[in-house]
Amino acid sequence: MTPHFPSRNFYINSLAPTPLVSVQLDAADPPIWCKLEFLNPSGSTKDRIARYILEKAWREGRLRPGDVVIEASSGSTSIAMALASAQLGLRFIAVMPATVSSERLHMIRGFGGETHLISSGGIHEAIRETERLAAELNAFLPRQFANPDNARAHQHGTAREVLDQIPGGAVDAVVSGVGTGGTLVGLMEGCRDGGCPVTPVLARPVHITSTPEVECCSFSSKIPGVMDCISSIFQPESIPNLISLEIRDDEALATTRRLIAAGFPVGPSSGLNFTAALRAAREHLPPEAAIVTVFPDRMERYFSTGLFD
Ligand code: PMP
Repeated sequence: MTPHFPSRNFYINSLAPTPLVSVQLDAADPPIWCKLEFLNPSGSTKDRIARYILEKAWREGRLRPGDVVIEASSGSTSIAMALASAQLGLRFIAVMPATVSSERLHMIRGFGGETHLISSGGIHEAIRETERLAAELNAFLPRQFANPDNARAHQHGTAREVLDQIPGGAVDAVVSGVGTGGTLVGLMEGCRDGGCPVTPVLARPVHITSTPEVECCSFSSKIPGVMDCISSIFQPESIPNLISLEIRDDEALATTRRLIAAGFPVGPSSGLNFTAALRAAREHLPPEAAIVTVFPDRMERYFSTGLFD
């Protein structure tokens, strides 16, 4: 028998579709279809994977009230898991690099979650630590970096909504930066399920340091949540027709500020995605292509970061 959800589960039953809007910051730019994922209950697209993974485990009897859930995350997934855990009566422990913004810690703790900070080794060490803690506490591990249900949440949720919302029901390209890769892979597969053989576009942030002698380009960690791939969900070499675009982090942050000034309360990865979508439209895709990207999270998470300098 399917176990009943607890009575305070309004979130599990009522996650509403997010709007899809056409955004054009300059009249000369091609319009980009943007999915306003910052409007999800905890403020990011990660509410989808928290809901999908915890709901599935709940239905299958692998989670009960009072159980412990542990996740490694740069923040957004932990906030979403903390919210869902609060509503389901679960104990949640977030394992995160100590560099995450204080706003994220406040949100997780506000939802009653515990935070376990890793001072070195970044997300890789955080993942190892979740495995160690889970063995000790007999906890449930959502494992966002390895769990295919992460991408399925977007395939069956985000992508389906996009196909219902976009005029004409057809998408030509999907654009996203990658943390776990769940968003990009799920959007791509969901659009293909719906009969749209989309071109996937990877937005890869880079940091340019230039001195009079040398210009150096390296992967940038100034876009929180987006990282060089450590996930088994996203295997770029096995994705046919993947367009990979390097986007300067300063350009991504400048676009983020322009989006905010235009009335979209977004965080840096939205600026990254929008910049990449525009570049793809101008340089790689046919003029009338319907291009979809996501605005993953909200600006309020970044008040203490360089975004508002
Ligand atoms: N933007 C933000 C703010 C994120 O936190 C993340 C994921 N950590 C992403 C984008 C990337 O999403 P995904 O994990 O689905 O690749």
